[in-house]
Amino acid sequence: MTQDEWGELKQELLKSVGNNNFKTWIEPLDLSGIEEGVATLNVPTKYQGEYISQKFGDVILYHLGKRAPEIQRINFRVPGNSGARPQPKKKAPNQVDEAAAWMKNDGSVPGAPIDPRFTFETFVVGKPNELAHAAAKRVAEGGPVTFNPLFLYGGVGLGKTHLMHAIAWELKTRRPDLNVVYLSAEQFMYRFVQALRERRMMDFKQMFRSVDVLMVDDVQFIAGKDSTQEEFFHTFNALVDLNKQIIISGDRAPGEIQNLEERIKSRLQCGLVVDLHPTDYELRLGILQSKAETYRKQYPDLGMDDGILEFLAHRISTNVRVLEGALTRLYAFASLVGHKVTLELTQDCLADILRASERKITIEEIQRQVSDYYNIRLSDMIGPKRLRVYVRPRQVAMYLCKQMTSRSLPEIGRRFGRRDHTTVMHGVRKIEDLKVQDGQIAEDLELLRRTLES
Ligand code: ADP
Ligand code: MG
Repeated sequence: MTQDEWGELKQELLKSVGNNNFKTWIEPLDLSGIEEGVATLNVPTKYQGEYISQKFGDVILYHLGKRAPEIQRINFRVPGNSGARPQPKKKAPNQVDEAAAWMKNDGSVPGAPIDPRFTFETFVVGKPNELAHAAAKRVAEGGPVTFNPLFLYGGVGLGKTHLMHAIAWELKTRRPDLNVVYLSAEQFMYRFVQALRERRMMDFKQMFRSVDVLMVDDVQFIAGKDSTQEEFFHTFNALVDLNKQIIISGDRAPGEIQNLEERIKSRLQCGLVVDLHPTDYELRLGILQSKAETYRKQYPDLGMDDGILEFLAHRISTNVRVLEGALTRLYAFASLVGHKVTLELTQDCLADILRASERKITIEEIQRQVSDYYNIRLSDMIGPKRLRVYVRPRQVAMYLCKQMTSRSLPEIGRRFGRRDHTTVMHGVRKIEDLKVQDGQIAEDLELLRRTLES
């Protein structure tokens, strides 16, 4: 493989791993050579080599294998460190650990690394995530399997991966006898493809079927990838038949994942499906307080003015990752300049984040405002009652959600007591008509819009 081809391959990796990962981990890699089926990559430090191998080994091998099928393994080397030179083993037929770096000698499946920060202790529970948290807790007890699979879904950065890792940690201590495997759907695919290429499907099947608890993160990734879906389906069924616990996450409800086979959707719906709702103010504040506590220990000299966390909880969007990033940056900045965190510093230092989160109106806010405005209870507006006093405000709220957020009709329907998207469409049209015919409705809409935008 030429250096040019290696350059192209890196560009493919950029698409798979995303910009940040690419810059930190993949960009610095150099291809040193390929010998006897082993590709040697130069890395700046041993730690980086280990991390990259754990986290991106599969995807790198996958792309290498597409171009050079003879490559069976990757070896990471720190240049100038002769001790780590590749030692290609003599090939012996049927030697299990040779061909595939991801297979352990004992035939078990190594999963992806588990982040030590993602535990139940560090997970802050609030209304939007209490069900998901309770379900995760139950599964983590490692008792008899009661619902299978557990399907967790929700938008980006709401804690799906955190909860899955927390389950893995808890099971590791409570039930060390169990073979617990966590991996992303993407990794599942890479391993599957690799097994196909190496004609090791029997091993692949056997290994996955020896798992006691299988967690597959971001299942939407396999949508549209037919043979991977097929294999996933078989693995899934085999484990369910053996009464082994399966936990799956996705970015939306099983029924709404496009290009996912019907039989898989219905299988995924068989167990317990719970969603993580977008965070509300209280949860955001709780998470900020808990993180700030950690920082307070780390930087005992750095004070923070009152009201800063409230300000952030109020102003930053629902994604917890963004929230955490903001706080991290704030403390880093304050510790650099060596003074207390003030509101002014916060606004300066987080100007870009605050701008990006401006005016992101949520379905929840709209529902609350509209029910306040019409003086009905939020639960009645979302609930099943068909009385006119509830129906009209409900339709107004649906209309505003369609107008003021980027949510799709099915998403909006879901947040209105799991109504169908056609119901939402009907409501939106109704209000569009009334807006023209009925001056009162037009005025209501105008007032509500102004309140929501303020
Ligand atoms: P997802 O997988 O749903 O995209 P993650 O689980 O990766 O989201 O969460 C994003 C970040 O937010 C992680 O750093 C995670 O620890 C944090 N986080 C999310 N929800 C919570 C919560 N309820 N309490 C504490 N931290 C949270
Ligand atoms: Mg995730």
